[in-house]
Amino acid sequence: MSEVLNVEEIFASKVFTLGKMKERLPKSVYKEVKRVMDQGGELSLAAADVVAKAMKDWAVENGATHYTHWFQPLTGITAEKHDAFVSHPDAEGKMIMEFSGKELIKGEPDASSFPSGGLRATFEARGYTAWDITSPAFLKEDATGVILCIPTAFCSYTGEALDKKTPLLRSMEAVSEQALRIVRLFGNTEATKVVASVGPEQEYFLVDREKYLQREDLIFAGRTLFGAPAPKGQELEDHYFGTIRERIGSYMKDLNVELWKLGVTAKTQHNEVAPAQHELAPIYETANIAVDHNQLVMETMKKVAGRHGMTCLLHEKPFAGVNGSGKHNNWSLGTDNGVNLLDPGDTPNENIQFLLVLACIMKAVDTHADLLRQSASDVGNDHRLGANEAPPAIISMFLGEQLEDVVKQLVETGEAAHLIAGGKLETGVSTLPDFEKDATDRNRTSPFAFTGNKFEFRMVGSADSIASPNTTLNAIVAEAFCEAADRLEKADNFEVAVHDLIKEYMTEHQRIIFNGNGYSDEWVAEAERRGLPNIKSMVEAASTLTTEKAIKLFEKFGIFTKVELESREEIIYETYAKTINIEALTMIDMASKKYIPAVISYTKSLADTVIAVKEAGADAAVQAEVLGEVSGYLASAKSALSKLEKVTAEASAMEDVKAQAFFYKDSVKAAMDELRAPIDALEMIVDKKVWPVPSYGELTFEV
Ligand code: ADP
Ligand code: MG
Repeated sequence: MSEVLNVEEIFASKVFTLGKMKERLPKSVYKEVKRVMDQGGELSLAAADVVAKAMKDWAVENGATHYTHWFQPLTGITAEKHDAFVSHPDAEGKMIMEFSGKELIKGEPDASSFPSGGLRATFEARGYTAWDITSPAFLKEDATGVILCIPTAFCSYTGEALDKKTPLLRSMEAVSEQALRIVRLFGNTEATKVVASVGPEQEYFLVDREKYLQREDLIFAGRTLFGAPAPKGQELEDHYFGTIRERIGSYMKDLNVELWKLGVTAKTQHNEVAPAQHELAPIYETANIAVDHNQLVMETMKKVAGRHGMTCLLHEKPFAGVNGSGKHNNWSLGTDNGVNLLDPGDTPNENIQFLLVLACIMKAVDTHADLLRQSASDVGNDHRLGANEAPPAIISMFLGEQLEDVVKQLVETGEAAHLIAGGKLETGVSTLPDFEKDATDRNRTSPFAFTGNKFEFRMVGSADSIASPNTTLNAIVAEAFCEAADRLEKADNFEVAVHDLIKEYMTEHQRIIFNGNGYSDEWVAEAERRGLPNIKSMVEAASTLTTEKAIKLFEKFGIFTKVELESREEIIYETYAKTINIEALTMIDMASKKYIPAVISYTKSLADTVIAVKEAGADAAVQAEVLGEVSGYLASAKSALSKLEKVTAEASAMEDVKAQAFFYKDSVKAAMDELRAPIDALEMIVDKKVWPVPSYGELTFEV
């Protein structure tokens, strides 16, 4: 028997939960904390001192020696700088561990080396971290010891956001305020806020660590830059939902335990479509906490893999030719008195509040399709979006048969009198139950799909933070709500006005609805006819942040200033250029030091064989033919290598960041492809014994 795992006991054991605060704080302080958490505002320094002491005591009881302000700079991952709780010893040399309210609330890491897009010159490098009271502190335990992590926002001396959390929190407040205006119109006077909830489904690959370490491309780029396809890929669909192998199962078990301790509700696990690909989904929670937790999920996935002799690849496209990884971002809005604004109920055609919300979301997504697309872009995701595998780079909305029909009726007649029902699902087997089926089937090809009581934004990349997609969703929907509320609050006859507005929005924005196959070529053509943007890459998407439309939106709701947006655009170009540069240099390195030398030795042994066979008086035609073929590819590889070296040098010397990023995308990537082709061809014909790195088959099937 394996030991019994008490999930209830270990859950959140490493989190300074509200429950622990309630136990440890004086009533008045606890109340103050709760009020600030729920309604915003600031904690008094006196209260912060009390909280800090309680937090430190709890952390120290659990073995903590240090604390850190844990934040999310624009690198897309998290950052931490540890400080021990040690203080000045007294005259007798005794030291007492200390942690003050001031240290809890505010930090000033130098942190001047993080990307800031020109917001911080190094000579004025002050940046501050500020405690985010809405996300609980937690303990991280590893070889460093136990560290108390305090989630924080990261801003510059002049108040500009330098991180992913600040704008997200701003967007959550904006959408809450505007959504409240909507529910008030329908007589909901009880709700005091509307919360954006998020449940991200995280895909990942696991490979054997020993094999990983033999591949510089995986080490430096997180993806394979070379590699011929294995004889078997995902075509049999036997991995998807397949039985989980022992080694992977034991990894998943450890991963769950670590996540549960951190208060992450790891819920669903399964094998994904590609070989060596898996998925984990937690239960949805407040957007801000979901973002923090997703960072912890990614980090813990990597950490636990090491313990099992494996490496976790979060890259969007670790292997060519099989599926890449994404992150389905499930998003909804709910009031604090329990109403999910995206719940259509049994009769959506009569649910006016729902129809208004839907109309607003249609308007938001259509108006800002470019921004939504941008929010899901990162370097790795360029391999998926538009690459005929995941949602294409075109934003459209899937509503399902029932809702699409409701929208159609509203657009055509202004009324939605009837409703397509789900009906009974008959299995045809007397011992199996017949049940009511959903009124709507699924559509796996839609980038933005309505799934019952939430939208599932499927474009997001697996390695990316989910902060930007959710910031964008909140912002664009806040704007649509605001415009609707502006009109409806003034209306003399609310019934008529809301009816007209729903019809108007749905009519104007129905082009965004698409229920067909989003992966088909016909859809690309159709979308173009409809005038929907098809933005194919991260660098092309970057400038959507600084259009007049975007600046107006983000400034209106105080989510980003123009300067912040400009800095973010610049960071995108820089990040892109640097990432592709690393990939190009890695290819150059591998080709010149591994592949080409290995193939040269191989040609030597082939040549020796040809001579020996001929000397022995036999026919060496086959050996000579292979030698010719190998030498041909070798020559192409060598000339492609020289070309890649040349364009990479040219690219890195460029000064203008935008032009540079585009040059990397158009010229350097093309040269990379040119080098990859002959090397992959060689892998198919060269003796496996001399091939210098593990193959796709070994990496993905022998885990
Ligand atoms: P589906 O089968 O449609 O993908 P699941 O029930 O598997 O849905 O849920 C997928 C993710 O969506 C999970 O993280 C889940 O917690 C989350 N989710 C479910 N309901 C909501 C909601 N109302 N708002 C946000 N996320 C949700
Ligand atoms: Mg799903």
